[in-house]
Amino acid sequence: MKRYLLVIVSLLLIVALAACGGKTGKSEKGFVGIAMPTKSSERWVHDGENMVKEFENLGYKTVLQYAEDVVENQISQIENMITQGVDILVIASIDGEALTNVLEQADAEGIQVVAYDRLIKGTEHVTYYATFDNFQVGVLQGQYIEDALDLKNEEGPFNIELFGGSPDDNNAYFFYDGAMSILQPYIDNGKLIVKSGQMGMDKVSTLRWDAAQAQSRMENLLSTHYTDEEVDAILSPYDGISIGVISALKNIGYKELPVVTGQDAELASIKSIVAGEQTSTVFKDTRELAKKAVEMVSAVLEGKEAEVNDTETYDNGKKVVPSYLLEPVLVDIDNYKEVIIESGYYTEEEVQ
Ligand code: BGC
Repeated sequence: MKRYLLVIVSLLLIVALAACGGKTGKSEKGFVGIAMPTKSSERWVHDGENMVKEFENLGYKTVLQYAEDVVENQISQIENMITQGVDILVIASIDGEALTNVLEQADAEGIQVVAYDRLIKGTEHVTYYATFDNFQVGVLQGQYIEDALDLKNEEGPFNIELFGGSPDDNNAYFFYDGAMSILQPYIDNGKLIVKSGQMGMDKVSTLRWDAAQAQSRMENLLSTHYTDEEVDAILSPYDGISIGVISALKNIGYKELPVVTGQDAELASIKSIVAGEQTSTVFKDTRELAKKAVEMVSAVLEGKEAEVNDTETYDNGKKVVPSYLLEPVLVDIDNYKEVIIESGYYTEEEVQ
C-alpha cells in the first residue's frame, strides 16, 4: 500500500512539475524574449524570423513581438515577456531612451539585455550591443553621392537636399554624421548647394522613419525651392524614405530622377534600383546580425563572454556598451546581382 502511495505521489509531482514548466514557458536551454519595433518595414520582419530560426535550431524557446512603432506597446510587450519568465531579452528599441524603467524591472528578475541594431540609452542594464558600423553606413551614402556627381572633378554646383532618420533612434545621428563627413566639405566649398537651407538633424529628421512624412516634406521642398531649378541628389537614410521621396519627385513631373540613396535593401527598393529609379541602398545582412545576437545571448546564458569588436563607440549615457559591428555594403545596379541575388537574400524573379 505504502509503495502504491509513493508511486502516485511521485507521478503527481512529475505532472505538477511539467505543468509548471509549461506555464513559465521555459525550455532547458533558455527562453528568449525578442522585442522588435515594427512589421511595417520588411527588414525587421527578416530580423525577427532569422533570430527565431537560429534560436530554435540551437534548442532555445522564443517569444517574438512587434510593437508597430508605438513606444508604449513595446514597453508593455517587454513587461509581458518578463512576466512570462524569459531568461534574456533581445530588443530593437523604438525610442532608445524610453526603456529605462522596464529594464530596471528586467534587472530585478536577473534578466540581461542584448540591444539589437539600435542602442538602448540611459540605462546600465544592457549587456551587449549587436549592430552594423552605423557611421560607415552614412559614409557609404555620402560617398555614393560624391561618386555619382563626380564631385572630386566636376565644378558643379549641384543641388542637394538632406533627409535624416528618426530623432529618437541613436543610429539616425550616426548615419547623418557619417554622410556629412563626406558631403560637408563640398557644401562648404560651394560644389553642393542645399537650396532649402535645411541642414542638421533638428531640421531634417523624420520621426519614426515615416515614408509619408518624408514624401510630404519632399513635396514642400520641391514646391518652395525647386520651381525653376532641379534637385540633383537626395541624401536618404532609409529605403522607405527613399520610396516616399521618389513618389514626390514623380508626382511633380521629374522624368530623370536625381541620385537617391537608401538603406536596408528592402525588396521595393531593390526593384526600384533594377527599374532605374532609386540609385543605391546600403545592404545590412540581417541573417548575419541575427547570428551575432544569438551568439551574444548564448554566451550570456552560458556565463561566458561574447565576442565584441568595439568597446569605445557606443556610450549610452550610463556605460559604453560592448558592441559587435558588422560591415554594411553599398548596393547599386552594378553589384546587386552579386551582393543580393548570389547571396540568396532575394531571388532574381523577386526583384524584377
Ligand atoms: C536601422 C536601419 C533602418 C531604420 C528604420 C535603423 O535603426 O539601423 O537599418 O533603416 O532603423 O527602420
